[in-house]
Amino acid sequence: MSKSITRRGFLGHSLGLGAGAFLANPLLAFQPSAGEKTPLIITSHTNETGKRAMEAGWEILTAGGSAVDAVEKAANIIEVDPEDTSVGYGGLPNEHGIVQLDASIMDGKTYNAGAVACLEKIKTPCSVARIVMERTDHILLVGEGALTFARQWGFKEEDLMTDKARKSWLKWKESLSDIDDWGPPDHLKDNQKIAALFSDREEVEHHYGTTNVLAVDTKGDVAGITTTSGLSYKIPGRVGDSPIIGAGLYVDNEVGAAGATGRGEDVMKCCASFYMVMRMKEGRTPQQACEDALKLIVEKYKKVNPEFFPSEKFVAISANGQYGCASMKGRDLPGMSVRNQSGYNIARGSVLMKM
Ligand code: ASP
Repeated sequence: MSKSITRRGFLGHSLGLGAGAFLANPLLAFQPSAGEKTPLIITSHTNETGKRAMEAGWEILTAGGSAVDAVEKAANIIEVDPEDTSVGYGGLPNEHGIVQLDASIMDGKTYNAGAVACLEKIKTPCSVARIVMERTDHILLVGEGALTFARQWGFKEEDLMTDKARKSWLKWKESLSDIDDWGPPDHLKDNQKIAALFSDREEVEHHYGTTNVLAVDTKGDVAGITTTSGLSYKIPGRVGDSPIIGAGLYVDNEVGAAGATGRGEDVMKCCASFYMVMRMKEGRTPQQACEDALKLIVEKYKKVNPEFFPSEKFVAISANGQYGCASMKGRDLPGMSVRNQSGYNIARGSVLMKM
């Protein structure tokens, strides 16, 4: 999913609404009927690339392949999409114009996990994370170390900045403030013609966006991936929730899996994905677990700032093939791409704060 907010608007956000009941689509059947439960693969991406990713993952699952293989294949398709500014190649860069990627993978069957953070120059960070998971005793490699590791395993180094991402970054640079050296020259700031070139200054946005891919294979094993370019224009070195096991992703073979997108700082503090899986373990459906995690965030901020409702979207699946998703706020109900024996469809979840 990809969403954006103006930073100023975000920090001072006031919806003038209390966090009430979730608005959900009553037509949504979150409980697949018997016989259609597994295998299952979902992603938080609902665009054409997300659909292609699901079909590729599905092919692996129906051929008897593992959930780990399916989620990696599917996530790779989203990672290499140059049009997608939230994940992998084409992702929006950090403050310095460098694309730094975060990704994690978890295999429920082996209870093993791997992750990379601030990884530069590699289009498919989730595949590097998989090697960290399978070929080392570590879970998380960052920055230069992660790149060296990737290089050692033969990953090709490439420029990850597309023209589209570069233009967005430049636009952000120009709109940073009126006291730095970006944007119009001081002596021309009052010139209407020049000013018109910068008329979009207030509209420049910070973007959140990530993809989660979760699957159950024919043997009932569960796996998941979360992969992202993270918060756009972030301070170099900033790591979000996506590569943090328990925050941006968690998998438990007995229960299911969950993944997060949105403002990673909130997701990390409440260990959202772990929390969702634990809620499912206690009997909550994936849909309810997603909503529980959003409520947890609201609850935690209540005493500090009751009007603070950060942008998050959670997805979850159960080991027996149920699925759900929920978002904190938005004009529309959040969607997720689902592929199971019923075919491909975009399921709509619930939203806590309809805007
Ligand atoms: N969670 C990601 C991060 O904070 C960004 C996102 O999902 O939108 O880096």
